[in-house]
Amino acid sequence: MMTVLGAPITPPSESEPRFQRDHRGFGTRAVQAGAPHDPVTGAVIEPISLSTTYAQTHLGKPIGEFEYTRSANPNRHNFEHAVAALENAHYALAFSSGLAAMATTLQALATGAHVISIADLYGGTHRYFTKIASAHGISVTFTGTIEINLRELLKAHPATKLIWIETPSNPTLTLVDIQAVADIAHEFNVKVVVDNTFLSPYVQNPLDHGADVVMHSVTKYINGHSDVLMGVVAFNDAEVNEKISFLQNAIGSVPSAFDCWLAHRGLKTLHLRAKAATENAAAVAAALEASEHVSLVNYPGLESHPQRKIAVKQHRKGMGGGMLSFRIKGGKAAAERFCQLTKVFTLAESLGGVESLCEVPAAMTHAGIPKEAREATGIFDDLIRLSCGIEESEDLVEDVVTAVNNAVLFVEKEQGSGASTPAFTEA
Ligand SMILES: *Cc1c(COP(=O)(O)O)cnc(C)c1O
Repeated sequence: MMTVLGAPITPPSESEPRFQRDHRGFGTRAVQAGAPHDPVTGAVIEPISLSTTYAQTHLGKPIGEFEYTRSANPNRHNFEHAVAALENAHYALAFSSGLAAMATTLQALATGAHVISIADLYGGTHRYFTKIASAHGISVTFTGTIEINLRELLKAHPATKLIWIETPSNPTLTLVDIQAVADIAHEFNVKVVVDNTFLSPYVQNPLDHGADVVMHSVTKYINGHSDVLMGVVAFNDAEVNEKISFLQNAIGSVPSAFDCWLAHRGLKTLHLRAKAATENAAAVAAALEASEHVSLVNYPGLESHPQRKIAVKQHRKGMGGGMLSFRIKGGKAAAERFCQLTKVFTLAESLGGVESLCEVPAAMTHAGIPKEAREATGIFDDLIRLSCGIEESEDLVEDVVTAVNNAVLFVEKEQGSGASTPAFTEA
């Protein structure tokens, strides 16, 4: 039988997982997993298979491995193969966005049931949990101290089917001990999903720490070039695959062939980008920690991070990743000014791309959360979130330090004007 493109799809069966484990090094997997040469032309890079339908020889007997693009597409198949290889998973399923991946997973695993979630959650996930999940009969309990009160919560909510965690959290970079949560959850036969978007599979592989499902907004680090909206989930359990893959096709929030191709191309350099972003974030975090104009730096790569031990345990070589946040002295006005003064960091939402971005969560990504609830999780008006790209470290450090100094100076001058003594006296 002729294979149209790449490896044939083996229908998931109980005896054989969809993708075999790939034990080669991360970079080798990133470049080669799911990237076969085209068997017809020998093309080293797969063509983009834009056809929505595939010819059949007899009724229901396609020439190759594909029938209709919503159900399966060669580019999506190869991308899913690559993600499975990077997350040490037997299965991966791609979606049209991170939120589509989240919503489909939730519907598959928790319909009519109870979910326990960390409190400082990605805004879109929080919106789905509070505004949409209830329409599907799903109730959600949020907790800010999941490692401490999980057992109690599971006893109080016997209908719990799913635990949702994000580590590090957004934007305070709070960590959750995945293995500790999974150990308790599994005693109660409850599955654990980890949103791994903030670190990427290069820095953290949640399935290796006991999670049942790992989810990504591919839009961020996996694609890494801020030009694709996509999501993916990966896992090892054939039963979970049966449920989520059924809904992937039945609901149909799948990515286009072109987006899968672009995201797969981006993924091939993930290890290089994640390393560079981590080095840059570590340098920026150290410079900010040394600044007299900064009151707090949240970065899991710093020894001062209150959960540094968890980072050392579950991040590759204790890496901190490319994301950090910090509180600038001078309040909301200084935070706003900082974002206007940076020249290398661009003021924009999103993260995980090759370019560095900055934003003020209280005014932008987290503006929808009431102030009191926001501040309870550490999201103050003076908190600035940085996504470090892969530019040169020195340029990023200089940009941030200069913008912090000038933003604070500007605010102090403004507040000082009209006062009898100048508030700012530094040379
Ligand atoms: C961006 C993001 C999402 C949502 O992904 P989309 O691709 O924008 O739908 C979910 N979780 C986290 C942590 C994110 O950063």
